[in-house]
Amino acid sequence: MSAAPTLPKRKTGKGVGPGVGTGSTPKSGSTAAAAPGDGSGPAPRPAPQPGTRPGPRPGKSIEKRRARQANRAPRQTRALTAEFVAAVAASDDVAAGPPEVALCGRSNVGKSSLVNALCQQKALARTSRTPGRTRRICLFDVVLDGGQTVRLVDFPGFGHAEVPLSMRDEFAPMIQGYLEGQTQLRAVVVLIDSRRDTDSDAVGFVEWLHEQRLPVVVVATKIDKIPKNLRFPVLARMKRDFGLQRPPLGVSTVDGDGVQALRLAIRDVCHPRVPGKKGSRVQP
Ligand code: GDP
Repeated sequence: MSAAPTLPKRKTGKGVGPGVGTGSTPKSGSTAAAAPGDGSGPAPRPAPQPGTRPGPRPGKSIEKRRARQANRAPRQTRALTAEFVAAVAASDDVAAGPPEVALCGRSNVGKSSLVNALCQQKALARTSRTPGRTRRICLFDVVLDGGQTVRLVDFPGFGHAEVPLSMRDEFAPMIQGYLEGQTQLRAVVVLIDSRRDTDSDAVGFVEWLHEQRLPVVVVATKIDKIPKNLRFPVLARMKRDFGLQRPPLGVSTVDGDGVQALRLAIRDVCHPRVPGKKGSRVQP
């Protein structure tokens, strides 16, 4: 007889909030939690029942969860439009525009494919590579679905080490000048082919970018070429070799891996969120 009241109590407690702090809500809380109207008013508190333990206010916890969800940034962003702006040789060849992210990498690393994928266009980067523009820095303005505009700066393919070390590379002075002179630049995405051994040139380039106090995002391209069970070791090796705090982002334009994450990272570095203000972003 005396066991009867305790059993339903435990069952209800488990069913209410698995893994959430509301788990100890008593029976009355469980029906209240399921009722859709529960969070509609300002902190509705069920009348305390005699003999019911004062639990952690079910209505409040649901409100908190809803507020958290409302505050959460969307996990994806799309490119609404993307357009070629200009092919320049120096940062002051074009008027200052939206916040920028530069993409650097050796020829054939997959840079054009990635620019197209980020812009959600098939041939934007390649068509901009008409003869007169291949030796220039190509700028693309991308409008994201949240209304933010970011500028992608597509450098000509080059050997990394020549930028800081010597000026052997014909593009080095142009790229170095742009990286040092562009005030709108928010980060540099360094593309490394995930199938290649880490070369010391690339490591030197990343170190140089750090010295310039430019935020760097290292991206491992063509990750689809690496078998899934080897991706973690490959990215871990790159993390170690480049002295990064986290593994690089593996990206594939063939199956789309990592492209969304990179687009989000670019949006966030160009338009950081205002802490404590729902959905607000810092104006550039
Ligand atoms: P860029 O010279 O750095 O602009 O490189 P491209 O974007 O032109 O790509 C060079 C080659 O790599 C092309 O044949 C692309 O089809 C190929 N490629 C680019 N991205 C990927 C990828 O994510 N996965 C695979 N498997 N191939 C890729």
